[in-house]
Amino acid sequence: MSGRNNSKVRRLFVRTFGCQMNRYDTERLVEILGEEQFEPVVDYRQADLIFINTCTVRDKAEQKALSYLGRLKGLKRRRPELVVAMGGCVAQQHGEDLLRRVEHLDLVVGTHGIGRVPAMLACYETTGERQAFVDLTYDFGDVSDGRSRPWKPGVSSYVTIMRGCDNFCAYCIVPLVRGGERSRPSHEIIREVGSLVECGVREVIFLGQNVNSYGQGVPDELDFAGLLRRLAQVEGLVRIRFTTSHPKDLSPSLMGCFADLESLCPHIHLPVQSGSDRILQRMKRGYTRDHYLRLTTELRKTREDVAVSSDMIVGFPGESEEDFRQSLSLLEEVRFESLFSFKYSDRPQTAASRLDGKVEEEVKLQRLRELQRLQERITLEKNETRVGQTTRVLVEGPSQAGGTQLSGRTPQNQVVNFQGPAQLVGEEIPVLITVAHPHSLEGVVCMENNERFKAVKERSWCGK
Ligand code: SF4
Repeated sequence: MSGRNNSKVRRLFVRTFGCQMNRYDTERLVEILGEEQFEPVVDYRQADLIFINTCTVRDKAEQKALSYLGRLKGLKRRRPELVVAMGGCVAQQHGEDLLRRVEHLDLVVGTHGIGRVPAMLACYETTGERQAFVDLTYDFGDVSDGRSRPWKPGVSSYVTIMRGCDNFCAYCIVPLVRGGERSRPSHEIIREVGSLVECGVREVIFLGQNVNSYGQGVPDELDFAGLLRRLAQVEGLVRIRFTTSHPKDLSPSLMGCFADLESLCPHIHLPVQSGSDRILQRMKRGYTRDHYLRLTTELRKTREDVAVSSDMIVGFPGESEEDFRQSLSLLEEVRFESLFSFKYSDRPQTAASRLDGKVEEEVKLQRLRELQRLQERITLEKNETRVGQTTRVLVEGPSQAGGTQLSGRTPQNQVVNFQGPAQLVGEEIPVLITVAHPHSLEGVVCMENNERFKAVKERSWCGK
């Protein structure tokens, strides 16, 4: 970078809103700026550059990001040398207009612009001209070999395998702000995963708006099932997960991976969005309720311990009480392990924003509460069936509860808290589940017959 202070270490604070995709972009930003002498800090008031990575999938997420930006006005007034940047979907959606509307914003970095940040920063610092980059045709690449990451990778790491989406579901702004679907070359992904494993990563979570259409339309490229089979051969990679899948692209060959690949976790996030065919059609989702039910039945036949989680929207335009009842009955029928549920909100330029039959806010809220109450009961019932079972847990780190508790995840992606020595972080160990909560499990480590655990225990034990 050719900025004024390029010999001096500078401080970077990133505030990330939204999905895992954004968290991955944040990791890449930290990596890229690490090469430019930026060090991450946890206190935004100490930062030389504040980067807000935003999400616009729901109106609430966008408002939160804009309100956070607004709160930086005073800090920028007191420290004019501070650089304030906004990236991600909100930046892409509003572009240069954001610079006109927000005086204390210096850089607007669209969804393809992460790799351009050093150049934009240098240009801003050299000329004093505020910068915006929102070119969706720009091929940003995703080259990352893990070893160059300035932070120590954790037990689990995200890897983006594709970006963008061609589906244009009626309610969704993603194709407009992230562009069309593009798959990363498989050789690049395989190299990145290999490097992460060398750095100590045990689990990789593959990301994309619709991972199961990976490779479509790319000559001589692997399909998603082929990619999973290839990555399952990476030595030292203990667990593979992926998100998100579109029901219309869930192929028999992908289902076959759940049967064959030991390292592929038995968990799939398969957004259904509604239980009513009429609403699914208005949403332009490309499948019916019956098709979805057949998929989940087939998945559970293929691998009986597979956990299915999903997304559901309530109050989509035109959703009647009967449509909503069908969503509730789908929940009862599938019995998801967990569910992310949302009130519909209009997103600009989407087909749904132009539909009639908008549902009143109060009705949406009531439906959301009823749906969530039902799912909470189902999740708790499912969690209770785990009590008394021993399950493999990949230990991720200290539990949020603090103290000497550790936290990890089952192959089905349930959080488990238990007492244990810190040296277990990164190990996959057997844990006997003793208590079920609505959002997590508690357990005790089963040390008998576990040589690895005994060795660790001898070195340090703080769990009594
Ligand atoms: S599949 Fe539909 S909901 Fe998912 S990102 Fe694409 S357009 Fe949006």
